Amino acid sequence: MSNITLTIIKPDAVAKGHTGKIIDHIIGAGFKVRAMKMIHMNDREAGGFYDVHRERPFFNDLVSFMTSGPCVPMVLEKDNAVTDFRGVIGATNPKEAAEGTIRNLYADSIEANAIHGSDSDENARREASYFFSELEIF
Ligand code: AMP
Repeated sequence: MSNITLTIIKPDAVAKGHTGKIIDHIIGAGFKVRAMKMIHMNDREAGGFYDVHRERPFFNDLVSFMTSGPCVPMVLEKDNAVTDFRGVIGATNPKEAAEGTIRNLYADSIEANAIHGSDSDENARREASYFFSELEIF
């Protein structure tokens, strides 16, 4: 499947009650929701998702944060989904996120940054299949 990206509304944004507003923002930006669920990841699940960051100094804190409460992974569809979605969410560090982006509006810190977005088409497909079977993607 092309033109998809994988997002996760992260535990900080879910805990603060921003899930609905963020989904509205995403749909308003022209994305279709092809799959969505709320889950509470354990260490193995969060560690597997962020496996590429295993050697980074922030890995353990990242896993603790991502397992701290429920989060909402979603598969989104749009032309140019990966690049356009990274524009919609803004820079990883909310202090650098452009005005009106999701991280500018809802994120507190580089770690508790409200939302994830895939960084390539290849990773979007890998990440979508990490959370959803083909039958769950509409
Ligand atoms: P990415 O795969 O680029 O989305 O990075 C994964 C997540 O790791 C980011 O969204 C942040 O939540 C976190 N992260 C990235 N860089 C740092 C950092 N320098 N310190 C703490 N957390 C970070």
